Amino acid sequence: MNAVREKNPPAYLVDKLTFNEKVERSLALIENAYREFGDALVVANSLGKDSVAVWHLAKQVNRAIRGFIVTTRFKPKETKEFMNEQIRAYPELRVYKNDEKIPKDLYNTDPDRCCELLKVKPTRWAIEEMGVRCTEGRTSTDYKEVEQRDLGLFKLNPILLWKEREVWQYLALNNVEVNPLYARGYRSLGCAPCTKITTDDNERAGRWVGTSKCGGECGIHTRPLKA
Ligand code: SF4
Repeated sequence: MNAVREKNPPAYLVDKLTFNEKVERSLALIENAYREFGDALVVANSLGKDSVAVWHLAKQVNRAIRGFIVTTRFKPKETKEFMNEQIRAYPELRVYKNDEKIPKDLYNTDPDRCCELLKVKPTRWAIEEMGVRCTEGRTSTDYKEVEQRDLGLFKLNPILLWKEREVWQYLALNNVEVNPLYARGYRSLGCAPCTKITTDDNERAGRWVGTSKCGGECGIHTRPLKA
């Protein structure tokens, strides 16, 4: 994996590579990781458009690649229904959820803590239980295709170079099902109390509107995930 890690791409490739070259690059990254990690390569599937694109790519590499979904009590009903459809279609997807009692309105009073309990904690359970050594997903907080997240845990970001338009292009060309909330105008999906439709250019501007976390991340990509 070191060889792959050292090849983290320069930013200009976002504009230089064609759509097909990006798809080939993404498949090669996943193939390399699967060759190295085998069953310990597991896709973190948030059920958003980026995740379903990564999931579809992974399935092109090997149908057996496993995945996990972290869900919360606050996910919109459409997301829960979409999740159930995905689990029926892909039994190799496991679901993790933290049902412990939390203070009322924690998503307003302390959204970082709320995400820590409802998203980061079950992600740690998934990594532990599924024996994950390499997880795939997309993050906007850094610029690495491969990074060591924690000791013994790599993070692969196979669609790092893709623009939002190219993600939609891939999904349309491959007839990949997406969460029906996109048809209502949402561009980035999360829990119901923390997700709004906006007209802002920033794709994530509708997340945690009115809080210090606005446009940010839930912490899965930034907090330690392994002891
Ligand atoms: S997105 Fe909102 S409701 Fe969901 S875990 Fe984070 S703060 Fe809580």
